[in-house]
Amino acid sequence: MELTRWKRWGLELYFALLRFVLPAECAICEGTLGIGSRSAVCAPCWGGIRVLHPPFCPRCGRPFWGRALAHPPSHLCQGCRTRPPQYLLARSAVLYERDDPLREFLLLFKHGRRIGLGGHLGRLMAERTEYLFGHPTIDVIVPVPLHRRRERDRGFNQADVLASAVARRLHRPVLRKGVQRIRPTPPQAGKVRDRVRNVRGAFAVRSPAEIEGRSLLLVDDILTTGATVNECAKVLMKAGARAVLVYTLARAL
Ligand SMILES: [Zn+2]
Ligand SMILES: [Zn+2]
Repeated sequence: MELTRWKRWGLELYFALLRFVLPAECAICEGTLGIGSRSAVCAPCWGGIRVLHPPFCPRCGRPFWGRALAHPPSHLCQGCRTRPPQYLLARSAVLYERDDPLREFLLLFKHGRRIGLGGHLGRLMAERTEYLFGHPTIDVIVPVPLHRRRERDRGFNQADVLASAVARRLHRPVLRKGVQRIRPTPPQAGKVRDRVRNVRGAFAVRSPAEIEGRSLLLVDDILTTGATVNECAKVLMKAGARAVLVYTLARAL
């Protein structure tokens, strides 16, 4: 665990040094950034990021389009009505579609070892917390864990980086080892049913005393069908959590 942290700091330092010696490029459009710019993304690209605004399902945060605009704010999406999720509510800071440049940006952070981008994305999440959640009771922030082996290969857990930024904003602690991924799961793809099966039994609570009676904010990078966060919320609720709220950086449309 210590080694992973050192590795992460080492990588961050390495990229910080690179920023000084290389002309900075926008991570999305590759346009030139001002020298010494601390932002990884140019202003027009930031402006192009789609953020989540109402109307959306009050439970799972799924955006409503078209005719649904006429629904009252309490109206739940069909998914939540037929199969209520294990979590109390879920929100995402930004939305993206398949060919959205933002997707590249997220992949760069997650798979391209651009951990420094996580700071920008985490701040984006942190800044939108009050807008999306109001002032809910949250005792502790829980990043969705990676399996030990995957975290070792990647050198960091992207959810952990984002959770830290949100935790700073909310002045709440991050609980890192409260829940673990006890079996490696293949990357999420395919139909909803496959995704649910894929993550079933993947998580286990390691320290119930830190979960019991507490309101948790579960943080992850991307929500697609919600199968992963739902499974994680399920074991947290079973372990006695008072409530589980979910916050992801992005929601795939
Ligand atoms: Zn740009
Ligand atoms: Zn819903």
